[in-house]
Amino acid sequence: IQRRTYLAHLSPLLRGEVLVLLRDVTEAKRAAATRRDFVANASHELRTPISAIRAAAETLLSGAMDDATAAHGFVEIVARQADRLSRLTQDLLDLSRIESKQWTLEVAPVDAAPFARQALEPAVVAAREKGLALRSEVPEGTIVRADPRALEQVLVNLVDNAVKYTAEGSVAIRAAREGNDWIISVVDTGPGIERHHLERIFERFYRVDAGRSREAGGTGLGLAIVKHLVQGMGGEIGVESGAGGSRFWVRLPAV
Ligand code: ADP
Repeated sequence: IQRRTYLAHLSPLLRGEVLVLLRDVTEAKRAAATRRDFVANASHELRTPISAIRAAAETLLSGAMDDATAAHGFVEIVARQADRLSRLTQDLLDLSRIESKQWTLEVAPVDAAPFARQALEPAVVAAREKGLALRSEVPEGTIVRADPRALEQVLVNLVDNAVKYTAEGSVAIRAAREGNDWIISVVDTGPGIERHHLERIFERFYRVDAGRSREAGGTGLGLAIVKHLVQGMGGEIGVESGAGGSRFWVRLPAV
C-alpha cells in the first residue's frame, strides 16, 4: 500500500526507476535473511554430529572403554556420526559450488537409459534389505540435453530418497515423451508427502519429519541440490504425491 501511495505521486517517467530500486532492496533483504537462515541451519546440522562424537569419546574416556560391549557401541556411534558429517560437508560443498556457479553445467545430448541404470546401483543393498523391487524402465535412446554428471547426481539423489522413505513395494525410474521433452520420473510406493509440504521440500534443510530424515541418513539438502542442478540444465522439476506414493519428475529437452 505504501509503495502504491508513493508511486502515485511520481511522474510516469520516474515510476519505473523507483519501482526497480524498491524491488532491489526487498530482494537483497530477502537474500540476506535466507543466507542467515542457511548459516544457522548449517551450523546446527554440523554441531549435532560433533556433539554426539564428543559425548561418545567422553563416555569412553570416563570408563566405558573397559567394558568391551559398551565400548563397541560408542565406537559405532563415532563412526556413524563421522559418516554423517562427511555427507553433510559434501552436500554443503556441492550446494555452494552450484550456487556460486563454480560448478558450470555443460549440456550435451546424452542417453538417459544408462544413467538411470547406474543411479540404481548405490541403492541396491538398501532396497534388498527392505525387500523393495528396484528397476529402471527407461528405454535405450532416451536422448536428453543434459550435463552427464548433473543428470547422474539428480537421479541418484531421487532414487536414494525413494528407497530411504519407502518401507515396502517398489521404486522405479520411468521415461515418457511429452512434446519436445522427456519426462523422467522416479516413482515410489512410499508414504507420500502431504500437500502442504510439497511446495517447500525443495528448500534447503526443509524436512517433513526431521527425526526420520536424520535416522535415515538424510541431510535435508538432497532436493535443494537436485532442483539447482535441474534448473541449471534448463530443465524443470516437480513432484506429485498421494497415499499410493510419490513421483518426482524431471523435464529435460529431448534431442
Ligand atoms: P533428506 O536428506 O532429509 O532426505 P531431501 O532434501 O532429499 O532431504 O528431502 C527433503 C524432505 O522431503 C525429506 O526429509 C522427506 O521428508 C521428503 N521426501 C523426499 N523424498 C521423499 C519420498 N520419495 N517420499 C517421501 N518423502 C520424501
